[in-house]
Amino acid sequence: MTDSSLRLIAALLLATPLSSGAQSYELPHGRWFDGNSFVARTIYVDRGVIVARRPARVDSTIDLTGKFIVPPYGEAHNHNIEGSPPATIKKYLDAGIFYVKDPCSFPEASVEAVGKLNIPSSIDGVFSGGCLTSVDGHPSGLVRRNIARGSMKPTDGDGRFLHALVDSTDFERRWPGILASKPDFIKVILVYSEEHAKRANDPAYFNWHGMDPALLPLVVARTHSAGLRVSAHVESAADFHAAVTAGVDEINHMPGFRPDRDSVSTMTRVKRYEIAPADARLAAQRGTYVVTTLGESTDFLAMGDKAGLDSATRKQVRDLYVRNLKLLRSSGVRIAIGSDAFRGNSMTEIMSIRTLGAFDDRELLRMWSIVTPKTIFPGRHIACFDAGCEASLLALDGDPLTDFKNTQRIGLRMKRGVLLSP
Ligand SMILES: [Zn+2]
Repeated sequence: MTDSSLRLIAALLLATPLSSGAQSYELPHGRWFDGNSFVARTIYVDRGVIVARRPARVDSTIDLTGKFIVPPYGEAHNHNIEGSPPATIKKYLDAGIFYVKDPCSFPEASVEAVGKLNIPSSIDGVFSGGCLTSVDGHPSGLVRRNIARGSMKPTDGDGRFLHALVDSTDFERRWPGILASKPDFIKVILVYSEEHAKRANDPAYFNWHGMDPALLPLVVARTHSAGLRVSAHVESAADFHAAVTAGVDEINHMPGFRPDRDSVSTMTRVKRYEIAPADARLAAQRGTYVVTTLGESTDFLAMGDKAGLDSATRKQVRDLYVRNLKLLRSSGVRIAIGSDAFRGNSMTEIMSIRTLGAFDDRELLRMWSIVTPKTIFPGRHIACFDAGCEASLLALDGDPLTDFKNTQRIGLRMKRGVLLSP
């Protein structure tokens, strides 16, 4: 038996609902979101799962009194769940976000989360462990800063929070150790890969380069044969192209989500962030997910002159985001909501994205409650209300398609058949 099939069995065992303790329910008078509209139905729950028929014994009936029922939301990109801080978990549950993906963490993050995450009363989280980059590549700057602050040790960088790959031999040597730490998925870093050689050899670009794009096909092949998915950090349209053509499963960030080397003056060069229509088509064909992380930048642009950019440039960048998002949408790419905002989450992200006007509220709700959870836990029957789906839901006091703020008027939360306290 291979290591990956053992891992699969372990995942299946963990995903099995508790047979004792979970109640059976009849849930009448709800209007259930099917991805397009709200449909009046009565739903039955037995041992944490939605069932087609009324169970022989119903423990309790909850009258949903015409409320609007949506699947719990997802946050596809945040680093704030490592260490499982209770206040952060509460903030997620309050916002109706049950599923969180952390792309770049310490290798022991999942083990430390046992008993705190992935239990009925908490959020469910996945961790990539250290991300794959190059020597002095992103996020080496973060590591350096945290060492200076005393929150990381010098030994916490290469081999733990990140893997500074030199070449393919180096990758092959490290790969068994990376897998042994049991990551939930693999995260690779691409940063202006079209200039990789120049940046990787120039200290002026410290932290502003990533993994050698030539290694990407090998990393994707090894990761897929281990039964795991690959997420790729991108900055430029060339990174997006490299990621899609190499067959990654998820692209993190929209190109141009932040200025090159944190210098806002570079934002005038929008051309290098324009996603090619052929790449968008390929991403759609391959089922590649794209995670937004545009909220902070969108809010920054909305600051007006205080942003330190003239209004023409602000408009140019905003238009770029809208154009790229509309291209992905018209090509049929799966767009997931992720904020990468340590003090925020996908709620703040989706509210900011909404101001761009690239999507209608129905699409936004579908992205947040259906698409996003699926790229966090692709193997689970979540984000659906059919027989066999996990019985997880939010009951909203008003129609979110009439007023999107109703996505936050949550009257009741159920996770795998367990009612969460309000
Ligand atoms: Zn991130």
